[in-house]
Amino acid sequence: MREYPCNLCGSDDLAEIACAPTYMAGRPLHVCRSCGMVQVAHRKTPEEIKASWADEMYRADEKTRLSDTTYTARIPAVHARQTFAADFIDEAVSFRGKSVCDLGAGEGDFLEMLKTPDHGADEVFAVEPSGANCRMLADRGIPHFDGIAEEYLAQATDRHGTFDIVTLIWTLENCPSAADVMDAAWHLCKPGGHVAVATGSRILVPFKKPLQYYIGPNADVHPYHFSAKTLAGYMAQAGFRMTDVNRYIDSDYLVMVGEKTDRTAPISWEGDNATAVLGFFDRWDKETQGFYMADGPSP
Ligand SMILES: [Zn+2]
Repeated sequence: MREYPCNLCGSDDLAEIACAPTYMAGRPLHVCRSCGMVQVAHRKTPEEIKASWADEMYRADEKTRLSDTTYTARIPAVHARQTFAADFIDEAVSFRGKSVCDLGAGEGDFLEMLKTPDHGADEVFAVEPSGANCRMLADRGIPHFDGIAEEYLAQATDRHGTFDIVTLIWTLENCPSAADVMDAAWHLCKPGGHVAVATGSRILVPFKKPLQYYIGPNADVHPYHFSAKTLAGYMAQAGFRMTDVNRYIDSDYLVMVGEKTDRTAPISWEGDNATAVLGFFDRWDKETQGFYMADGPSP
């Protein structure tokens, strides 16, 4: 375990979100007082996370030969959100005839979708740290790299600046360092290429689901919680000019597209007000306790 500074702006000035430990098995969740980014500041190191994942994958593998016994992209809700992201990004930048690199590709369902005539991507490539998922990618004939984005960046120097579009589909919130992964996306993109990020983060969006469905005990593998403004901050810090964002206010999804710049001019971003974020969580906690917990746990 380590105490990390703000992953977005680097500040050490973090405030604890009072209600969070109730939902996170006693673990704290922090908001940066400088930029408003919500994150698990006290977490395992990337090496520790990798070791625990490999261990869990191994056990799941023995039993089922699948990557995970509970999560699969074939769940209708997962299929629905991947379809939404594919359609939104396609509308924004068009996949047709393009090369796409998906960071954290899972079982490859999103890339499969992009290869269909509906989207017409020319080349798809997967970067995926789970060995079990990589075997499934191989079965599906999807070229892939077995590892995390930073490792791919270090090894595949011939692919730097070669992809039209780099996608992060419900991945960025689960990375050891969201900033490092956005940096990898920038290096992998062609000049003038695009990055697309899709996430279920809902900071400062009126809450529709109980808080226990949003934050949970998986603090080490889900350290980042974005708002539209902090995600735009990640885009800007990495050298992407935000070009498109979905109407996230009444959607469960936040999908944002950015165009690669040459990093010669800093891109301004505003982030969130930490006091507003703390108040948001207080209200969400009260609503959750009032509507969902008074009569016991909801289904
Ligand atoms: Zn910050």
